[in-house]
Amino acid sequence: MTNEIPPYRITGETGEWELVIGLEVHAQVISDSKLFSGASARFGADPNAQVAFLDAGMPGMLPVVNEVCVDQAIRTGLGLHARVNHKSVFSRKNYFYADLPLGYQISQYDEPIIGEGEIDIDLPGGVTKTVGIERLHLEMDAGKSLHDQHPSKSYIDLNRAGVALMEIVSKPDMRSPDEAAAYLTKLRSILRYLGTCDGNMEEGSMRCDANVSVRKPGDPLGTRCEIKNVNSIRFVKQAIEYEARRQVALIEEGGTVQQETRLFDARKGETRSMRSKEHAHDYRYFPEPDLLPLILEDTRVEKIKQSMPELPDDKKKRFVAEYGITPYDASVLVAEKEDAAFYEGVAKQGDPKLGANWTITELFGALNAAGKPITESPVSAENLGKLTLLIKDGTISGRIAKDVFAEMFETGKAPDAIVEEKGLKQVSDSGAIEALVDEVLTANPDKVEQFRGGKEKLLGFFVGQVMKKSQGKANPGMVNEVLKSKLSA
Ligand code: ADP
Ligand code: MG
Repeated sequence: MTNEIPPYRITGETGEWELVIGLEVHAQVISDSKLFSGASARFGADPNAQVAFLDAGMPGMLPVVNEVCVDQAIRTGLGLHARVNHKSVFSRKNYFYADLPLGYQISQYDEPIIGEGEIDIDLPGGVTKTVGIERLHLEMDAGKSLHDQHPSKSYIDLNRAGVALMEIVSKPDMRSPDEAAAYLTKLRSILRYLGTCDGNMEEGSMRCDANVSVRKPGDPLGTRCEIKNVNSIRFVKQAIEYEARRQVALIEEGGTVQQETRLFDARKGETRSMRSKEHAHDYRYFPEPDLLPLILEDTRVEKIKQSMPELPDDKKKRFVAEYGITPYDASVLVAEKEDAAFYEGVAKQGDPKLGANWTITELFGALNAAGKPITESPVSAENLGKLTLLIKDGTISGRIAKDVFAEMFETGKAPDAIVEEKGLKQVSDSGAIEALVDEVLTANPDKVEQFRGGKEKLLGFFVGQVMKKSQGKANPGMVNEVLKSKLSA
């Protein structure tokens, strides 16, 4: 699709600057056990309760690849429309850190399991843009240093050491903080659909490093800084924006951007230098001597291909074609697979177009206000579908439907029961409506005079009065017709 949104620019003293953003996402693989040991990978256990000898860096321990994690990486690669490499190699990435007892991380370097792929991101106004994926590789996580447990000591928790991560590296294809946010949102949605990562940024199961540089539009790429471990999409946007402005100011003052790793301070809303960028040679990568290259048989990849779920983009296309809803509504409805399943229930039971509106506006609004997930919705998909049918066939007006919906949300009752109980049926009986109209006209002889003298906008006043008398239950179309014919008589 063509880009209808004006390009995002930062205006400095010397004119306009363009942002270039590439994201590295560490996604924790959904798996019972760790990447190379049998220890549990579950979140939330007591510190150091889930540590195998290998994870603790005991000498002589041998890594064994967890095939579930490999399958998860393949599945993710297929979901990113990426190349699956039939041969990949694990490498040691050597560095010292207190929470890395092995002294190295087993990762993948120049031969990752997954090569180039792409993600379509959804931007405002129904615009989509394709962002390239450079690679996806498997690696083990490090442990965790806890600096806030004791005034003068740091503690180490090794539960996380050895847990499988997929590092997903994008190409430098994003040009604004909003595009970066849309990329993370879409990636998280795909991972959740696939069931390969829960995408929970607060618990750290999805972490993002943002690479940012600036340039004059049309110039070659500038030097980038990498902002490490930002833990919410909102912070990623803030960090990128702050960092880009910092670089523009620095360059315009005559300075040059140094390639470095920076940290985002969420409280202050700024980034600060952490260390100058290490280079690959500092890590002295070499092939992991305790593991053979990872060879994937065709049949294995094929089998996973056969078990792929319908992904958000395909579902979106199908919703537009099958239910006649707008691409924008469809993208909102498919973002979470539970929402999409709920909506399909509504569409199957009721009117698909009204169903989309009522799901997005009324239901999501009410759930949000109540702090409830869709899986605990007091209104069932079936009942919301029925409500749309009552609106569609004229049993109740849209206005009354809002009251019925509120009651449904409160009590979980079916809409027809509520309409019956409270006598909310729309009045479409012409005799009854004529009687109401007569009452209103008789009560307002002066306005009738004015209307007949040419003040036609008084029609709205009469409609309002009749609706009020019927407690909102009169069929508005019929009220209009009856009024017009009586007034012109
Ligand atoms: P490193 O190992 O140094 O982090 P990677 O290749 O793993 O390098 O990741 C580099 C990331 O930086 C990628 O997401 C890439 O898109 C991004 N990137 C590369 N060059 C630039 C640039 N000039 N400006 C912004 N991002 C960039
Ligand atoms: Mg990197």
